[in-house]
Amino acid sequence: MRYPELREEIVEYGKRMSQAGLSTGTSGNLSIYLPEQDEMLITPSGMAYADTLPEDIVLMRGADGKVLEGSRKPSSEWALHLGIYQAKPDARAVLHAHSTYCTVFSCMHEPLVAVHYGIAASGAASVPCAEYATFGTQELAQEAALAMGNCNAVLLANHGLLTTGVSLAKAFSLAEELEFVAELLWRTRSIGQPVIIDDAEMANVLERYKTYGQKTS
Ligand SMILES: [Zn+2]
Repeated sequence: MRYPELREEIVEYGKRMSQAGLSTGTSGNLSIYLPEQDEMLITPSGMAYADTLPEDIVLMRGADGKVLEGSRKPSSEWALHLGIYQAKPDARAVLHAHSTYCTVFSCMHEPLVAVHYGIAASGAASVPCAEYATFGTQELAQEAALAMGNCNAVLLANHGLLTTGVSLAKAFSLAEELEFVAELLWRTRSIGQPVIIDDAEMANVLERYKTYGQKTS
């Protein structure tokens, strides 16, 4: 079995995704991409994260999605993950979740806006919402990649959230941050209209974020 450590990492972050309340039941999926080999490791379809073992993680070929290792069916969103890696050459991990607050805004077909500076973790001042497409389709992958632009996250209409990063740790922490921002938007709107940080200040924040935090994570 190849890539035992990366398989462990996916299993670990799957559990964290459940613990952090980003995913309920078997929803959501995680992957890691290996650009030199053009291979992707992805969570299996319909398995609870608590029960998933390293050998359940499916290894697929990037070019056509052929299963190279694993007896499990890959996540039904494997084409979505591959589509993001094709559109974003720097991405090494993708996380997809049906986290409640981000999904609320995806159902409104609304972007997440800068109600809190933490949205800058996405690399942009707002997180777009992609056009609706059926789950598990190539069309969903295309719409997500198209809407994402320079952002490292996108809302999938009437569906959920997708984040990317240079590591699974980055994609995971971005998902947590955006769920927080979406909750703030929902809560502030329930008592009035929140003040959104303007574009000039968000440009300043984005600049500061380039040197914020630990380099290795
Ligand atoms: Zn989904």
